[in-house]
Amino acid sequence: MNIHEYQSKQIMREYGIHVPEGYPAFTVEDALENAKRLDTPVVVVKAQIHAGGRGEAGGVKLARSLDEVRKYAKELLGKVLVTRQTGPQGKTVNRLLIEAGCHIKKEYYLSFVVDRQAECVVMMGSESGGMSIEDVAAENPEKIIKEYIDPVIGLADFQAQRMAYALHFEKPTIRKAATFMKYLYNVFVDKDCSLAEVNPLVVTEEGDVMALDAKLNFDDSTLSRHPEIVALRDITEEDQKEREAAAEGLNYVNLGGDVACMVNGAGLAMATVDIIKENGGEPANFLDVGGDSTPEKIVAAFRIMLEDDQVDGILINIFGGINKCDVIATGIVEAAALLSGGKEEFPIPVVVRLEGRNVERGREILAKADIKNLYPASSMDEGAKLAIRLAKETREKK
Ligand code: ADP
Ligand code: MG
Repeated sequence: MNIHEYQSKQIMREYGIHVPEGYPAFTVEDALENAKRLDTPVVVVKAQIHAGGRGEAGGVKLARSLDEVRKYAKELLGKVLVTRQTGPQGKTVNRLLIEAGCHIKKEYYLSFVVDRQAECVVMMGSESGGMSIEDVAAENPEKIIKEYIDPVIGLADFQAQRMAYALHFEKPTIRKAATFMKYLYNVFVDKDCSLAEVNPLVVTEEGDVMALDAKLNFDDSTLSRHPEIVALRDITEEDQKEREAAAEGLNYVNLGGDVACMVNGAGLAMATVDIIKENGGEPANFLDVGGDSTPEKIVAAFRIMLEDDQVDGILINIFGGINKCDVIATGIVEAAALLSGGKEEFPIPVVVRLEGRNVERGREILAKADIKNLYPASSMDEGAKLAIRLAKETREKK
């Protein structure tokens, strides 16, 4: 689960981390009210969306008067912001953070994530912080310094200090920087984060060490013990299809492409996404219908896939085990009938590859139903290629 920058900053503040004074705003009036309350020469108007890269995309504005605050707030509220992290469809700005501007002397990068290979939390830092850390990671990975943290000992003082020296903090700020790291580590552990990132962490002209940006992501499987985090959820930021799928008990992740897949088993679902990509297609989603699939679940999955015009073709890839192929086939036939008002056709091409338990019966059911726009495939590779080609044809006809 993700939360907004201003919410992350509030949590960090509670843990002793220095952040600029700031308040959220939902309207232009709120924004002006907050700016008056701050009473600083420079007020920063920041779009609050669950994605970074806002600075480059015009989502962070420095205002030097109330008129400018009004102008930027008007401009940003309701705007669809497209950043390098939002995808081409962008995200609508519904909230702003109105924050005191500060005198930046230098920008750093600092984050904590779980390193699965090392099986521990890793702290990453760079003195090339700010808006293009992705480029630094791609072009100069040696500029990113890591400290692996023993889960029993936690972040040791010497590690925090070693990081501060490695990032060339100046003498008077070394201790503050190291303390900052320790506090952020406390947030990460206490709140069961999957990511805690501050970019930029800044040293100000006045010698303060502060978080100018803040991003916390939480491990969904721990949310039951964090009602205070769940309360911060902003469902308008979450993918609508993912929410609906979760309500139906389906494991669904929107991947943005146009070739949808419906698969049983997470491993096979990932392999199916890969094989679509490998053959030059763009997968629309990851979907694991699970081992206990019912015709109702199959119908629900179709509805979610077809509710907007994102998808141009569907690949169904089922390996019958606990899930019997004939049950899946029945679900597909029912879905076709329901979706077409009894006409037994799909609005877009659906390629089906069945294998495993009761496969013969499953294929028979599909063949007998004679559904328009339904194509059988005998292998994964053939199915992927066919789905991609048919999706392309559908798109060209649109
Ligand atoms: P994003 O990472 O989404 O681009 P940031 O919050 O990092 O958004 O803001 C982008 C840049 O804007 C920062 O690198 C910093 O230079 C500047 N900035 C952000 N907040 C402030 C602030 N309170 N005072 C001065 N400059 C700021
Ligand atoms: Mg940032």
